[in-house]
Amino acid sequence: MTSAEELNFTALSKRHEGASHYANIWYGHYVFSITIVYAMIVVLLQYMNKRSRTPVKNRFLRRIRFFDPWAHLTLLSIPIIIAFFSSHYSWRKNLSVYMKRVGRLSYALIPLNLFYNLRFSNSMNYIDLIPLHKWLSRILCLLALIHSIAFFIMWATEGVLVEAVSDPYMALGVAIFAMVIILMFCSLKPFRRRYYNAFYIIHNLMNFSFIIMTPIHSKPGIVFPLLITNIILLCLQIFIKMWFVKPVTVVKKIVESDSSLVVIQFPRECIDRPDFSLITHVRISEYSSRWNPLFWIYPSHPYTVASIAGDNTLDLVITENTFKLKEGHKYAMINYYCQQSKIPPSFFERDPARLRDVQIICGGSGIAFGLPIFRYLLNLENSGMESNIKRCELIWLINDVVQLDVLKHIFKYDSMPENFTFRVFVSHTAGGNSGSVGDLSDNTDLEIEMDSLAIKNGEEAPYQNVKFRRFDFVDDAKHLKESFDPWVFCCGPDRLISGATQFAKDGNINLVTESYGF
Ligand SMILES: Cc1cc2nc3c(=O)[nH]c(=O)nc-3n(C[C@H](O)[C@H](O)[C@H](O)COP(=O)(O)OP(=O)(O)OC[C@H]3O[C@@H](n4cnc5c(N)ncnc54)[C@H](O)[C@@H]3O)c2cc1C
Repeated sequence: MTSAEELNFTALSKRHEGASHYANIWYGHYVFSITIVYAMIVVLLQYMNKRSRTPVKNRFLRRIRFFDPWAHLTLLSIPIIIAFFSSHYSWRKNLSVYMKRVGRLSYALIPLNLFYNLRFSNSMNYIDLIPLHKWLSRILCLLALIHSIAFFIMWATEGVLVEAVSDPYMALGVAIFAMVIILMFCSLKPFRRRYYNAFYIIHNLMNFSFIIMTPIHSKPGIVFPLLITNIILLCLQIFIKMWFVKPVTVVKKIVESDSSLVVIQFPRECIDRPDFSLITHVRISEYSSRWNPLFWIYPSHPYTVASIAGDNTLDLVITENTFKLKEGHKYAMINYYCQQSKIPPSFFERDPARLRDVQIICGGSGIAFGLPIFRYLLNLENSGMESNIKRCELIWLINDVVQLDVLKHIFKYDSMPENFTFRVFVSHTAGGNSGSVGDLSDNTDLEIEMDSLAIKNGEEAPYQNVKFRRFDFVDDAKHLKESFDPWVFCCGPDRLISGATQFAKDGNINLVTESYGF
């Protein structure tokens, strides 16, 4: 920058700053305070969901209670937006005050976003908070973009764009702007799903750079309390990851014929407590030592525990993609997560006057989610205690009959009462070699019941029949709509989960879902 340009831009900066230079400091502090109060509400809700039995009638409150992102963002944004506009600075004369305020707002929301990502073991179900984290990140990025673009437009109309972006502090702002665009692109679903590792690394790098670079760029400073809090939260994230990690060795890997589903067995002691709740998952890192830099660079893989607390091993059922666990190899287990808030406590009430109808629908490796629930209810039923289960049905959707072979390794039971059924739906058999009836993906009406498949190798299989067609909520779950206390548990591809959600909504059915995708 020449000295004339420098003078020009400095004069302009002064004009924009003036008496309003400190106008936004209080706003940053205010937003930060609001997020602290809100974070306390989140903790309280998590606590309530684990313990409270009272159903919430009001729709908005129910959405708040179960962490619907839009309900939460609405709740959070009301005090923030009101304060944003309440100021004695006029929009026309002091537009730059509001442009800076938008930038400050985006930074002031970062501590909350980091809080969402803290994996405090079992006291918080971090999975509940992931949709909130995603939406808050999007809004935060959008605010940062609005802040930058507004300044670009202002500088361009005043003819000082080049001078402005040549200023080192403003150039840093331009770099942050570019980073936010890269981050937004990498977070798009197609990119995230296809290149998860790249997304994860870029996300962490950008996040860290944004946290460090913004306080240097920002005038007046935002070091205290925002930068300090962000650094404390980042350190806490690292500490939690270090504290809970332990090396684990795969005891056995079971691969059946050419099925893509494999069973992985770890020692039961990996979860060092006698009991753990249904829908617990563990996170496995390929790098067994926390001192290996790759342990920190690459993401760990979450897998649902397919066994129940009383089993001798800790089983996982995995659809293998890129990451393949090997028998006898050592990995790092980054904690286990009992998602106690996932199943409402009312499900565990056993009131014989309220006859319950349960349908558990799971696709592929989603059997790891469904089977423990089915076995838990089966054990209760077989325990001789008074039962409130009118009907319990496990429905497993697979794309090839060869996948049935993993069942004998994970499904242990004594006897199957009449009100318990296990049905299998095979969508197509491309690539399969047993009982192959060709690819049925275009022929969804075709239904062949193969009861003979219920006898495998001379032994009676746990499932009653196998249907070679797609599962359909309207036909295959219609009895739930007439039931007194209906429950649907569902885990599988996005389409299956959205089908279950719609079906449960239409029929006023209790619903618990688990998605394997972030
Ligand atoms: C709570 C939870 C429980 C899960 N339980 C099971 C289970 O019991 N059995 C099972 O087979 N799968 C489960 N998954 C999915 C499993 O974690 C991913 O399929 C696995 O991490 C993919 O690793 P990869 O390197 O083979 O993936 P890739 O071949 O690279 O990608 C395959 C898919 O997995 C996603 N993915 C990749 N890495 C991760 C990661 N670190 N975390 C999350 N998603 C990722 C990608 O976006 C892509 O959609 C679960 C996911 C979640 C969130």
